[in-house]
Amino acid sequence: MGSFADFHARSINDRDAFWAEQAKLVDWKVQPQQICDYSNPPFAKWFVGGQTNLCHNAVDRHLVDRADQPALIFVSTETDQEKTYTFRDLHAEVQRMAAILQDLGVVKGDRVLIYMPMIAEAAFAMLACVRLGAIHSVVFGGFASHSLATRIEDASPKVIISADAGSRGGKGVPYKPLLDEAINLSAHKPANVIMVDRKLAAFTPVASRDVDYATERAKHMDTVVPCEWVDATHSSYTLYTSGTTGKPKGVQRDTGGYTVALAASMPHIFQGKPGGTFFCTSDIGWVVGHSYIIYGPLIGGMATIMYEGLPIRPDGGIWWSLVEKYKVNVMFSAPTAIRVLKKQDPALLTKYDLSSLQALFLAGEPLDEPTAKWISEGLNGKAIIDNYWQTETGWPILSICNGVEKAPSKFGSPGKAIYGYNVKLVDDQTGEELTGANQKGVLTIEGPLPPGNLQTIWGDDERFVKTYWKTVPNKLVYSTFDWAVRDEDGYFFILGRTDDVINVAGHRLGTREIEESIASHPNVAEVAVVGVADALKGQVAMAFAVLKDPSKAGTPADALKHEGEIMKLVDEQLGAVARPARVRFVALLPKTRSGKLLRRAIQAVCEARDPGDLTTMDDPGALQQIKDLVTG
Ligand code: AMP
Repeated sequence: MGSFADFHARSINDRDAFWAEQAKLVDWKVQPQQICDYSNPPFAKWFVGGQTNLCHNAVDRHLVDRADQPALIFVSTETDQEKTYTFRDLHAEVQRMAAILQDLGVVKGDRVLIYMPMIAEAAFAMLACVRLGAIHSVVFGGFASHSLATRIEDASPKVIISADAGSRGGKGVPYKPLLDEAINLSAHKPANVIMVDRKLAAFTPVASRDVDYATERAKHMDTVVPCEWVDATHSSYTLYTSGTTGKPKGVQRDTGGYTVALAASMPHIFQGKPGGTFFCTSDIGWVVGHSYIIYGPLIGGMATIMYEGLPIRPDGGIWWSLVEKYKVNVMFSAPTAIRVLKKQDPALLTKYDLSSLQALFLAGEPLDEPTAKWISEGLNGKAIIDNYWQTETGWPILSICNGVEKAPSKFGSPGKAIYGYNVKLVDDQTGEELTGANQKGVLTIEGPLPPGNLQTIWGDDERFVKTYWKTVPNKLVYSTFDWAVRDEDGYFFILGRTDDVINVAGHRLGTREIEESIASHPNVAEVAVVGVADALKGQVAMAFAVLKDPSKAGTPADALKHEGEIMKLVDEQLGAVARPARVRFVALLPKTRSGKLLRRAIQAVCEARDPGDLTTMDDPGALQQIKDLVTG
């Protein structure tokens, strides 16, 4: 083990040599000719000339050493299923799914959209796509038809893979009606839909479009579908995420860089060893699920647990019972989930044998100190490792790399800049780099972004450049849109977003998306949505709306009815994840004299903080009305 400071310095100062070494962790059909081509900034091309395949690295390459070891452990406390697939089984299932896709004409470069619950077939689907060189786009199952439609339209998939239903708390949640409605709304129509029928919700297949997965699979029990070797720069997937505008961004990822980045993260960050077990409680609809339910652990030769269900059903010990049963070595979850568990009987933490567990990684939102302390004490001092990253980056930017050099965690901090990331804090006004300790700035990364990060925004290079990149004196930097400070030891503390993105229970949502949905209610004239601090979910969305005809919500009963209608609308269009905690009605919204909505002031008032300088505000009465509502 060497020094982390040296390791990090080498990754920046001797970049190509550093990443050439990491690239040895990956199987290549053709070795890369050039490690990083940054001749056209901010577009970085990694491992140019190399050819590889993500599915080969996640599955096929392990057949030599560990064909009969567990690869995918599917556990559903919703349908009481538990099934372990060895690498050999997974290899067979992925080929069956790939053969079905091939039958439907899917070839390299085609897009395939996956709208599925957390079932093993979703993993087969992702791996089958990358096996063929098709570009998958997984849409979180909690999104409703409108959100899904915008993603279908943007990704223009040839085929969609879906299921009849998900399940929550033991009740089926139909997916198919939302999918049919989304395809109806979308200008792009997929040629085919592969339906996995779990028999949780009856549905009528659409003739000549929908195909039944079980029927097609039965035709391909022994079909061999070789991996399609693709250029390292070939796109492996897109994943949509929210930004400041209503239109979601398709984060586009490459193949070679992503494979190398994940392969390297297993020993250096997670200390995961081949033959071990990784349990990530996220969802495949999010980036954490892509990287650490599916690809990372499998590339690292580990078994991965895919869990469908709630963390507290049948009781709050379910996850720990899985750690005991499957001898989990590395666990990865989100602070919100730990806050949910915190409300359960603490004895559940000591009921199971957790001796296999090395560390619990947490990401997605700020990890508050009381939660970190509670879980650290509950797990008897096991390492609790906060890590900070984004859909765009694909793997952590900040954390503790115990696999390189053991280092202590500091409560409230996700740690230091990880190797490969040339992190700079910059002053948002002057663009000057802030090098002193404890100065607040925007967390940026000097280009080129390391392997595994986004290549661009799907179909919109200009938006990629304009959204994220800024020239500060002598440097081109990528903005994370997060405020941060760095202490004298190099540990960062994240202080919140610089834009209108909020984080509800680790789910990233654009307030504009929610505003657009609410504004589609016939009686809403104008609306502001802000993120407000919440003890359980980190943040919740709060909406303040001006009605076209306020008399229709004149009585408390009518106002409540309107609020219910609006929440239902958001549920139907975007999904329950985006539903505001409250919708309040006001006569006008606080704005500057030039008409800019003062979201920060609204947020401050909702959190009982000082709204700051309001000299540019048009009518102070507007903010007072909100204050009265939230304190009343
Ligand atoms: P997403 O792209 O959905 O993963 O959301 C990324 C955003 O979540 C970041 O820009 C941060 O605002 C927030 N975030 C993620 N991880 C952390 C963390 N460990 N601590 C604080 N904020 C985080």
